[in-house]
Amino acid sequence: MKKNPQTALIHAPRKAPQYISSIQPPLFRASTIIFNNTDTLFNRHWTDDYDYSYGTHGTPTTFTLGDSIAQIEGGQYCLLAPSGLSAINLVNSCFLSQGDEVWVADNIYGPNMEHLRNLETRYGIQVKVYNAIDTDTFQPSEKAKLLWLEAAGSVTLEFPDLSRLVKKAQANNILTALDNTWGAGLAFNAFDFGEDHLSVDMTVHALTKYPSGGGDILMGSVVTRDKELHHKLFRAHAIQGISVSGDDVAQVQRSLASMQLRYEHQSQSCLTLLDWLKQQPEFVQVLHPADTDNAGHENWKEICKQGHSAGLVSVIFDNNYKLQDIRNFCDSLKLFKLGFSWGGPVSLVMLYNLKEMRVLEHSHLKEGFLVRFCIGLEHPKDLIEDIQHALQNMKKLKNE
Ligand SMILES: *Cc1c(COP(=O)(O)O)cnc(C)c1O
Repeated sequence: MKKNPQTALIHAPRKAPQYISSIQPPLFRASTIIFNNTDTLFNRHWTDDYDYSYGTHGTPTTFTLGDSIAQIEGGQYCLLAPSGLSAINLVNSCFLSQGDEVWVADNIYGPNMEHLRNLETRYGIQVKVYNAIDTDTFQPSEKAKLLWLEAAGSVTLEFPDLSRLVKKAQANNILTALDNTWGAGLAFNAFDFGEDHLSVDMTVHALTKYPSGGGDILMGSVVTRDKELHHKLFRAHAIQGISVSGDDVAQVQRSLASMQLRYEHQSQSCLTLLDWLKQQPEFVQVLHPADTDNAGHENWKEICKQGHSAGLVSVIFDNNYKLQDIRNFCDSLKLFKLGFSWGGPVSLVMLYNLKEMRVLEHSHLKEGFLVRFCIGLEHPKDLIEDIQHALQNMKKLKNE
């Protein structure tokens, strides 16, 4: 039947046959999902995985990426969120209620702390802070509901004793959530680690970083192994309308193939820089989990058995260098770009004032301004030269 042009423009004449396949899975862009008939409409179970009813509840495109992420991280189920922080918020909003206590490390990813402080003021959730490298400071009360973990910690890169923290949480019936962005599921298996085959309850991952790998996509995930926990999260995810763009998902899916190669390359480059950075007199401390002097190095060695250590390294400048010097240093870098995030092709630098970031004592950290380097895919020799040149420039400007 010949259609009117207006109809013909809307209804495509051809469908791909079932047997057609391609290297990358086909991309579904959907808000509406079309039901075959009223039977499927009335028998849909939108709270079940892989039941398709509406775009926000998942498409083959989002489920495919979710399955890959769950598999890489050693879990079973995965939910995608529009950013890493949104995935963190999903966990907090799903499991925390008025009167509950939540525990976070002092070195936790900053915006998570800010989000929790906001919940504290508005909804009466108590935020308790522990020292990532002193597990005795984790003293949960009966109201404790959730323990946030991060290995290694954002910015200062301490590696906590995950085994002791998880055991203590489990003994007290407290849910454990690990921000797994640093390890990316490649450095260690958060669902089976240590001598006792311990497991966290869920991992959150900023897919913005290594999985995307391009510095151009924002996305996050929450992975679980327990069906009941997953269903709680699935419901919270659905009723909050959290969803991601199919196009963004396809881009992350495409990048996954090279993730481990990039991760290992950036880990290796970072180790090359670490050796060099440690020899520079301008830095009083270099922070990296693989360094024997680093806080929690033994924990890292125990858990990251293959020696993976991601592409982050921080330095603390000698106290003689003031804020203006550090700014001159950062402004003199050419290959390292000034910006937040990591895991992309371009190396990044960011400066921090630790005094404004920590509430507890941090005696393992020297005084001074901190600069974090995120190693991209450039050749490490060029990166070293870039830092060398910027240090010279900083000192030249100081003496003028
Ligand atoms: C970047 C990051 C996040 C948040 O991810 P976004 O996608 O930028 O919101 C969370 N945790 C850690 C450790 C991160 O580095």
